[in-house]
Amino acid sequence: MKQIQIACGGQTELREELENFKKECEENGTLSQVMFQIFSEVLDEDVTSQISDTIDDIFPGTPYIGCSTSGNIVDCQLADEIIVFATCFEKKSTKFSVFQYDFSKEPFENITSEIIKEANKNPWVKAIELYFSIPEGSTTKFCDGLNGLREDIQIFGGVTCSDDITSDDCCVFSSAGKYSDKSVIVVFYGGEELFVDSIKTTGWKPLGRSFTVTKSQGSLLQELNGIPAYEVYHKYLNISNDENFFYNTLEFPLFYEHNGTTILRVPVSGNADNSINMSSDMDIGSTVRLSYGDPKTIVDSIATESRRIRDFCPDILHIFSCAARRTFWSSNEPTYELEPFSSIAPSTGFFSHGEFIRSNRFLNQHNVTLVIAAMREGEAKIRKTENVPSANDNPTVSKVPLVSRFATFISATSIEFEELNKMLETANKNLEAVAITDGLTGLYNRSETQKKIEYCLSDIKNTKLSLIMIDIDNFKQVNDTYGHQKGDAVIIALAKILKNDQSQVSTGSFAGRWGGEEFMLAIPDVDISAAAMIANLIRMCFEATSFPEIRSQTISLGVAQATEKDNIDTLFARVDSALYQAKRTGKNKVVVA
Ligand code: GH3
Ligand code: MG
Ligand code: MG
Repeated sequence: MKQIQIACGGQTELREELENFKKECEENGTLSQVMFQIFSEVLDEDVTSQISDTIDDIFPGTPYIGCSTSGNIVDCQLADEIIVFATCFEKKSTKFSVFQYDFSKEPFENITSEIIKEANKNPWVKAIELYFSIPEGSTTKFCDGLNGLREDIQIFGGVTCSDDITSDDCCVFSSAGKYSDKSVIVVFYGGEELFVDSIKTTGWKPLGRSFTVTKSQGSLLQELNGIPAYEVYHKYLNISNDENFFYNTLEFPLFYEHNGTTILRVPVSGNADNSINMSSDMDIGSTVRLSYGDPKTIVDSIATESRRIRDFCPDILHIFSCAARRTFWSSNEPTYELEPFSSIAPSTGFFSHGEFIRSNRFLNQHNVTLVIAAMREGEAKIRKTENVPSANDNPTVSKVPLVSRFATFISATSIEFEELNKMLETANKNLEAVAITDGLTGLYNRSETQKKIEYCLSDIKNTKLSLIMIDIDNFKQVNDTYGHQKGDAVIIALAKILKNDQSQVSTGSFAGRWGGEEFMLAIPDVDISAAAMIANLIRMCFEATSFPEIRSQTISLGVAQATEKDNIDTLFARVDSALYQAKRTGKNKVVVA
């Protein structure tokens, strides 16, 4: 396949060039294998329609696509304000079709299901290219809608924009639809002998600490870590929420993981409430960081990615590069960025407001990203290996700039702080747990048990509460006869029974070590007769527990139910006195208050 530039300096020149080109096509019988692309920094409908009308006139029925851009690319160099290209497919098996859908007439869902239906009707489709014009709002529904396409179909493309990247102005037009600022052009490519590959690269690096999206509504990003999103830009980068907000944030997009890939997101604009508008949905809970462009990383990552494209041996390249990258490189663009691709194949493309690429089955819209689609007809031709330039070959970027050193320093210290914070959080949690737990048994300690009982008592009008107080019988003898360690084992065994019991009896029940060999079990939602039955079960279970080298042990239990008249002291006094009765009347028994 070939790309032929059609000179379009004026109507007469365009007409002449097209007529000559048509003659050539007729002579080699390739008329049906042609498609046109028109990229225009000029938004004026009169200007673009003159070009499309002339194409229609001389090549009736031949598909063409057109869009507005923030700069045109031909063979990896910045090109004229308006460029017209003809792509000539050489294999008869290669197929392509152009569609245009209007978002102002149909919801995203209808359009994406229409695209999927068309793709299913045409099993030859291998790749889908998108030219998307939508001045505001989120592309998420559109992207998600296309995830239903066959998994092997590649998707790539760009959001169109105008010369002024801070404005929303943009348009698309095609042989399948009218000039529109709210439409998408969809191009199907395929056929047995057509091969397609697509890559994305950014080279942007995360900067400093991470933030969590804590409040958002679709593409409206409201809060990061609970503070208004704009304040993050203000606090960390001193960027004001004024008419330059978009321009100033361009070089510091948000860096986040979504659908298993890394996505850069540039704020579109700031609002009075310090929320910011993005071009895609920002899911609550996702982690984001600020990021920055580092010339050396960019050039090196492009060198790596260009190797894959080189090995693919494409006939042509389609380039979609974010307008923010052009701003980033200022006068040097596009030499550094695109240079590595210039020796691979002829290319056309444009600077965009957003870049589409499907990775891991998911279509995402990116910002500040370079997307390159490579196409080839027939088998790959073997090429002699060429050295791919790296950042080290380029004196302007090989010396690591101060900003990059600082950014690395900030990132490293932020990671250390984050790790330190995590350690402190864990230590705090451990301290809290230690403060409420009895060391020997793992049950709650006395003060926590009392606190929890007081809490239940405060709601006694709405819920029942029964207490079981337990004391090991003649425990002093155990210590005296077998030693303190064996005594500990007996205490632990009783605690284990209570632990099992508390989880089985009722979800809200809890047990604590009251002191020495005394325990308290609190059971909400049961009345005293049920609590007495539970107490007796515990008694029998403990009595049946055997200990190595010690004879079986017994316990005495007191049971009381809280009333609305009770305070914590009267309730404890009642359960204590029931336990005392059990001891006094022979031990190894349950007494109900
Ligand atoms: P009663 O049947 O009347 O409850 O008799 P008792 O011997 O169990 O009563 P007393 O309160 O006189 O004795 C409790 C003993 O528990 C005293 C103390 O040595 C022992 N003790 C308290 N805490 C621990 C402990 O953590 N481990 C061990 N091994 N013994 C403990
Ligand atoms: Mg005791
Ligand atoms: Mg005792």
